[in-house]
Amino acid sequence: AMKQRLLVVANRLPVSAVRQGEDSWALEISAGGLVSALLGVKDVDAKWIGWAGVNVPDEVGQRALTKALAEKRCIPVFLDEEIVHQYYNGYCNNVLWPLFHYLGLPQEDRLATTRSFQSQFHAYKRANQMFADVVNRHYQEGDVVWCHDYHLMFLPKYLKEYNSKMKVGWFLHTPFPSSEIHRTLPSRSELLRSVLAADLVGSDIGELKCKRHAFEEGGNIEAQKFPIGIDSDRFKRALELPAVKEHINELTQRFADRKVMLGVDRLDMIKGIPQKILAFEKFLEENPTWRDKVVLLQIAVPTRTDVPEYQKLTSQVHEIVGRINGRFGTLTAVPIHHLDRSLDFHALCALYAVTDVALVTSLRDGMNLVSYEFVACQGEKKGVLILSENFGEYNMWLAAENGMFLRLTGGEWMTTMPEHLNMDWVDSVKHVFEYFTERTPRSHFEHRETSLVWNYKYADVEFG
Ligand code: UDP
Repeated sequence: AMKQRLLVVANRLPVSAVRQGEDSWALEISAGGLVSALLGVKDVDAKWIGWAGVNVPDEVGQRALTKALAEKRCIPVFLDEEIVHQYYNGYCNNVLWPLFHYLGLPQEDRLATTRSFQSQFHAYKRANQMFADVVNRHYQEGDVVWCHDYHLMFLPKYLKEYNSKMKVGWFLHTPFPSSEIHRTLPSRSELLRSVLAADLVGSDIGELKCKRHAFEEGGNIEAQKFPIGIDSDRFKRALELPAVKEHINELTQRFADRKVMLGVDRLDMIKGIPQKILAFEKFLEENPTWRDKVVLLQIAVPTRTDVPEYQKLTSQVHEIVGRINGRFGTLTAVPIHHLDRSLDFHALCALYAVTDVALVTSLRDGMNLVSYEFVACQGEKKGVLILSENFGEYNMWLAAENGMFLRLTGGEWMTTMPEHLNMDWVDSVKHVFEYFTERTPRSHFEHRETSLVWNYKYADVEFG
């Protein structure tokens, strides 16, 4: 049977490209939430359309890259440096991302009259048009076009302008802000109307409380399910590899006398990394007996390093880690191991496997994959997953189903540093450590299959 063709359009292609010569490229599948999630889509003939993450000004290079990518079922959209700066670093990462995670707009961009804001918005639209052009060139009748995330909110409208019969879905992977927050964004209606040109508007976290009138008016739209989760077997298979087993042994020996707490995040302000580390400090402060019995391993993957807010966060985290290690470290050991880089897949699996307590402390997040991956790698170990509030509902289910959910008390996390921090989750951590010390039977810490079915939801749109 003919497989359904699917064009997946996302800002970034799931590969990183390194130029080797005038007309040769080395490609590597790159890490990231959306990528991991979409590895789970089966039974469709999928092609990816997106930016390859590199500036390729010359035609020879563009042609060579296009050819190399085709083998990976990828189609590039070429964006020049200026567009990337304005559209990606500017409007996407400095305006929409923080706003959608309830961090508000950057101060200087609050007014639409700010020149940088307007040119960023303009570049955003232009970039969306460039994506639409590439999609339109590769579209065949019957294709489903699946647009992803806040980078591409104009895409549904532009695609429908090309061809009103195109089946277009738009899926948001972040939270969607409440109307009070959303209202602070200039051009919000234009953005939303463009999204609503889609046949399908979806979100993984059930916050998109919207009503799509056109849908009710009898558009040609069907309900569909797209089964997506993490590929948990991939993680389990990795744990069987001799090299990974060896790595697990090394780590186990290395930390034999300590409980291992783990954080794995992109170094993003939504991930609550300073908050996590400061709370860890408080834990050590209040529990002297634990000081030489616990270690926090924090993998902080550099991200969006061209955006000043992210640069600030990096130095802030370094400062806190240095201070705490200076305070509680000894000549032979430090309480926090902080890595400013990513790990390869196998190293990450080994780390998940030896971890006693995983800390996922986002201030706001969409569907967080790290929590799934940790559960998939724990096997018989049955450690503990600590999740902050304000996640997508699927994360809540995952945690609840596994009996792991330790709800943070005290409502929302504060984002001001550091004296207004809400440290209440320290109690949760204590609670966890009581389990270790008292060896309470933990029969309710059952692990189940973590692959979930992820429903596309028809949105009921009513944007205020
Ligand atoms: N990841 C990785 N190497 C690392 C750290 C993280 O490949 O060193 C992957 C991790 O396995 C996960 C993804 O990055 O699949 C992070 O996804 P998540 O949904 O947790 O957060 P996002 O980065 O999408 O906000």
